[in-house]
Amino acid sequence: MRSVAVLVAGAGASGMIAALTAKKNGNNVILLEKNAQTGKKILATGNGKCNYTNYYQSPECYRSFEKNSQTEKSFAWHALGKFGQQKTIEMFRQMGIMPSDRDGYVYPLSGQAVSVRNIIYRELIKNKVDVHLEEEIIDIEIHYSGKTGEQDGYLVKTTKDKYLARKLIIATGGKAYPVHGSDGFAFDIAEKLGHTVVKPLPALTSCILDEKFTKEWAGVRVGGKVSAYNEENRLLCSDTGELQLVATGISGIPVFQISRFIVSELAGGRNPYIVADIMPEYTKEEIIAEVKRRIEEFENASAGDIFEGFIHNKLVSAILMKAGIKMNKNAVDFSDAEINNIAGIIKGWRMNVVSVADFDKAQVTCGGVSVEEINPDTMESKICKNLYFTGECIDVDGICGGYNLQWAWTSGYIAGSSC
Ligand SMILES: Cc1cc2nc3c(=O)[nH]c(=O)nc-3n(C[C@H](O)[C@H](O)[C@H](O)COP(=O)(O)OP(=O)(O)OC[C@H]3O[C@@H](n4cnc5c(N)ncnc54)[C@H](O)[C@@H]3O)c2cc1C
Repeated sequence: MRSVAVLVAGAGASGMIAALTAKKNGNNVILLEKNAQTGKKILATGNGKCNYTNYYQSPECYRSFEKNSQTEKSFAWHALGKFGQQKTIEMFRQMGIMPSDRDGYVYPLSGQAVSVRNIIYRELIKNKVDVHLEEEIIDIEIHYSGKTGEQDGYLVKTTKDKYLARKLIIATGGKAYPVHGSDGFAFDIAEKLGHTVVKPLPALTSCILDEKFTKEWAGVRVGGKVSAYNEENRLLCSDTGELQLVATGISGIPVFQISRFIVSELAGGRNPYIVADIMPEYTKEEIIAEVKRRIEEFENASAGDIFEGFIHNKLVSAILMKAGIKMNKNAVDFSDAEINNIAGIIKGWRMNVVSVADFDKAQVTCGGVSVEEINPDTMESKICKNLYFTGECIDVDGICGGYNLQWAWTSGYIAGSSC
């Protein structure tokens, strides 16, 4: 059995920064990764460009199931006050990753996620962190000294070896995108060691609708606003941007942003719903006036034809299906109530959600190791001394826009510097 001062489990975004920081603090550090390469998930971030942080920061950008979530008193916001986006950008600039600002979203100037991964890896090697690839941790136990009977570390069993780690940082990620290595290992170990794990759920993902019209609109992209409501009709969250309409439901960044609220309602056995405004630039009255003008202008046009040049024809099929109007109905026969109904759908389309896309398609996990049991100044567990958690395995999930990687850097840096 090998003895080591600090063992970091998982060489993803947070684990690499934790290992590097702990090493720079003068520790002997081993970093274990089951994949054949470090930071595999980083390569997929930001569509291969790695949106690694955001200049705009506020407590609402970080969510958890704690009482103070999204407030200045939250666990995440406290930690971000110690190591936030400015320090992150500076840390990466020192390493050689120059920032490129796109409306506040920060990417490497190279435009390549691989350059972020490679540079952090280079730093690990330069600083002589002992990186072990293709070595999967299969179990972790508290280790007690044979002489004193006191806890003296953690016994880490892998597919290749056994280690006695004086301090252990668990950075094995959540359950999202398991193809990159994160399969929920941290949650099993945290529970085994006596922690509360808030039920992990997929977040930043698309919503699956229980609606026939989705087959009609598949493939259309439209600018719009989506809002999530609970079954008591209380607004939970809204976002605006490009909506991607697919055969099973609705996707796109605004949908990702609200999905986290939808999934927690569904997990609680409740029935949330989405309301979409697919023409935010027009009022309902303007749409009614435009439809009426078209009925007068376009002689003998059918219900399907009347919207040509105004609304994508696949979307027209879906709208008319929702309104219960046949595509071949003569537009001059539209009643005022039908026109009002069509405009109402365009401005406030209610959609029933049955589920969200699963972990294999979700960008992050919401839920995880309870923040009530972690010290935000150190990322050390309040249950087990010398045990630290970082990144997505903690019950903190960011919105789209660089906030999840920021959380990985923040928690990784704090854990590493606390060792
Ligand atoms: C497609 C996609 C795009 C994204 N884009 C962005 C973006 O642009 N901006 C942003 O901020 N966030 C983005 N995210 C989210 C972000 O990538 C994650 O939140 C972040 O990488 C989490 O870091 P982590 O260190 O907690 O875990 P991970 O990066 O998941 O790393 C965990 C590591 O632990 C290893 N591991 C797991 N179990 C074991 C074990 N038993 N033994 C050894 N090793 C193990 C895994 O192989 C993995 O390498 C994206 C996510 C996805 C899936």
